[in-house]
Amino acid sequence: MEFVTEMRPRPRRGELLIEVQACGVCRTDLHVVEGDLPVHRPHVTPGHEIVGRVVEIGGDTDTEFAVGDSVGVPWLGFTCGMCKYCTSGSENLCKRSEYTGWDHDGGYAEYVVGAADYALALPTGYSAEHLAPLLCAGIIGYRALERAALPKGGRLGIYGFGGSAHLVAQVALD
Ligand SMILES: [Zn+2]
Ligand SMILES: [Zn+2]
Repeated sequence: MEFVTEMRPRPRRGELLIEVQACGVCRTDLHVVEGDLPVHRPHVTPGHEIVGRVVEIGGDTDTEFAVGDSVGVPWLGFTCGMCKYCTSGSENLCKRSEYTGWDHDGGYAEYVVGAADYALALPTGYSAEHLAPLLCAGIIGYRALERAALPKGGRLGIYGFGGSAHLVAQVALD
């Protein structure tokens, strides 16, 4: 279906309008649509492993991104920036945090609006389909691997094996 301009979401200040190129499927998306998580936004569009291209920037937005840039939109979509968690590098624990595809419409759509401050610059030379799973499974796995503080040549045990674990295994072997 051709999207008419009026149906596109509009980016406000601090937001990017992104044309979606690929969006991965995370287990959390299934938790959202199957009702395992409380409803934060009725009829929300899921999807939070989003790779796309910036097509419009909300007015007065101070951002490093420009129209045409490739960006990733992850699960974490907003935090307060002021609480003890936000100011100590644990913003994922912020009590006022908001999430892509749960509090805000996500990436299973032609277009998505994402907060510029939470969008991620993406490397060139990779397809959107290959980059998309890194936006949640990759982030979670990388964080877990960092916290495991694996010594060089050390042994790594992975409990449960899904999207994150198969990426962790590749990074750990590198
Ligand atoms: Zn996820
Ligand atoms: Zn906070």
